[in-house]
Amino acid sequence: MSVTSTPVRVFLLPGRDRRVGSGHPWAYSNEINMDAATKALTAGEVATLHRVDGKPLGVGTFNPHTLISFRVLAQNPTTPIDRTFFETRLKAALALRERLYDEPYYRLVHGEADGLGGLVVDRYGDIVVIQTATAGMERLLPELLAALDSVINPSAVMLRNDGSFRRLENLETYVRPAKGTVPESVEVHERGLRFPADVTAGQKTGWFLDQRDARNFVAPLAKGGRMLDVYSHIGGFAIAALKAGAERAIAVDSSAKALELAELAGKWNDVSDRLSVVKAEAFGELERLRSAGDRFRVVACDPPAFVRIAKELKTGLKGYRKLVRLAAAVVEPGGFLFIASCSHNVTVEAFASEVAAGVQRAGRDGRILRSTGAGPDHPVHPRLPESAYLKGLVLQLD
Ligand code: SAH
Repeated sequence: MSVTSTPVRVFLLPGRDRRVGSGHPWAYSNEINMDAATKALTAGEVATLHRVDGKPLGVGTFNPHTLISFRVLAQNPTTPIDRTFFETRLKAALALRERLYDEPYYRLVHGEADGLGGLVVDRYGDIVVIQTATAGMERLLPELLAALDSVINPSAVMLRNDGSFRRLENLETYVRPAKGTVPESVEVHERGLRFPADVTAGQKTGWFLDQRDARNFVAPLAKGGRMLDVYSHIGGFAIAALKAGAERAIAVDSSAKALELAELAGKWNDVSDRLSVVKAEAFGELERLRSAGDRFRVVACDPPAFVRIAKELKTGLKGYRKLVRLAAAVVEPGGFLFIASCSHNVTVEAFASEVAAGVQRAGRDGRILRSTGAGPDHPVHPRLPESAYLKGLVLQLD
């Protein structure tokens, strides 16, 4: 496969060039002149995108079989999309993270905002986990891997290509190492804490880098009190709280595997004696704690997306409201509630409105102390503000 040969040309329909012309990195299938030759192009092929009059708008990858058909990778249409291109992008992404963080544990590439739409690269020290979401990035993997070697030379690289989003591009799902041997649990460092991430079979890439800032803000609020970490995964919020001086923490998750790693994290961070784990469904466990009269200084709820597709919006929003109602009920007077949503389809406003309703239904008053979101290693492309999927609110409740 040669990706350095002259790219094929793809044309927009008349009048459909304004968005891409203004720097947006996507063109949709219904904006493209899908003549027979264009439709027949190989999914993921490198192509240049043109206005009807021939003016080029950029170079990127094209997939005729998906809604977001064209992904612009560079506005200069003569940019070769090769190993050097990836090296340049990776070096820029790395320079930003090195400015932001003291240690090499971060999302190194976050899609379009790093000029690499369809690609996520999480870095855990010497080990890198990659997710490709487009046919274009999938085809360009050899160039990406070569560039990664020259820019950070990881000891091992895992391809975690098992996300359901790959179906949108007709990509098969798979998990396999692309380089080296990946240990069963990979050590992740975060502000002096150590966590064991299962990058092969754990959720996402094994660790939720995106909640770093929220964990940092919420943890010290629990000092001297009890902390409840609901949807704990491997105990990120609980362990951060214990390290910040919480008396006790309970981690609740429905995944036994995640809780095993939470217990291991407890040992690694020397807080095992103050950490309990409970394997349970979150709503049921919150109801149980409420009936039992258990109350906490801090309750953190970081659930999986309740709204995965637009159709689920109504029931998902209700879910957030109910979760807040149940969680607020077990916050001690003067205590704190952290509630997050990672649903792309839920706006900040809609989320805040459900949170307010949930707090009210719990019969509580309170105030929002902070809105949270993913850390700066998850930058947002200025033309894709809606891709800022993660939102959170920290409230104090009377
Ligand atoms: N707070 C974590 C990330 C949470 S990810 C951190 O800071 O790293 C969401 C977690 O919710 C996953 O671990 C998943 O196993 C768990 N989960 C999903 N559905 C659940 C349910 N109904 N009840 C309890 N836990 C659930």
